[in-house]
Amino acid sequence: MRHMILLCFLMLLPCGFARPRPVAQKSNLLLSFLDPKHAQAWLERFFFIKSKTAHKHTMEELLKKMQEFYNLEPTGTLDDKTVEIMKLPRCGMPDVSEYTTFEGSPKWKKNSLTYRIINTTSDLPQDKVESILAEAIKVWSDVTPLKFTKTTDTADIDIYFARDEHGDNYPFDGVGGTLAHAFAPGKGLAGDAHFDDDEYWTEDDEGTSLFIVAAHEFGHSLGLGHSKSHGALMYPTYSYKKQKNYKLPTDDVKGIQKLYGKKRS
Ligand SMILES: [Zn+2]
Ligand SMILES: [Zn+2]
Repeated sequence: MRHMILLCFLMLLPCGFARPRPVAQKSNLLLSFLDPKHAQAWLERFFFIKSKTAHKHTMEELLKKMQEFYNLEPTGTLDDKTVEIMKLPRCGMPDVSEYTTFEGSPKWKKNSLTYRIINTTSDLPQDKVESILAEAIKVWSDVTPLKFTKTTDTADIDIYFARDEHGDNYPFDGVGGTLAHAFAPGKGLAGDAHFDDDEYWTEDDEGTSLFIVAAHEFGHSLGLGHSKSHGALMYPTYSYKKQKNYKLPTDDVKGIQKLYGKKRS
């Protein structure tokens, strides 16, 4: 499986590196959300709830679930506040998936993990991308016994930038919308983090902060799902927080320490 993904990735390389900074491409997800079909597609993607019976969740039921998650009035209708949230740039992982009800969270069974940066974005110098990713992953090793080592060999966490369809059935969507996604610990793509190279990645808030998005995605790589707590790093939608002396919010510290324990002194 991993070999197949790598192959697809290699085929993407030439256009990936020659690409100028994106300007006009629009995310499909940013099309009119007043069209219930688009709202339904968003809900089915991020609030996918598998029914144990043949019952298919209605749009109203999905809307209520979504509104509860985002602390909105659960009206079950496509009101303005709901549409606003759907338009925000965000992580590509779901907010409620069929897996969240399974017992126990997926986690790595070891504390020493490796990561491999397969390619970088042309938006930033390569060494800058590498230092930002190292800082982003350090956010998690600062508060747990986890240790991360960068390698060029087979790694637990593979990191790459790609556009559109990139071999894992979770295509990216142009500028805005989904910014990145990452896979929980387990088999196959487990732990891997992919970044949408149609975003304009920057060190600060001039474009999309690579640090903030990467730190969030590495949370998934380690086994965290999305948090309902506004202000948490694992909140699903993007908001910029200053990178200098970044302090991991309490909600995220509690979450990761539940999986791996506290940092040993
Ligand atoms: Zn996420
Ligand atoms: Zn992907």
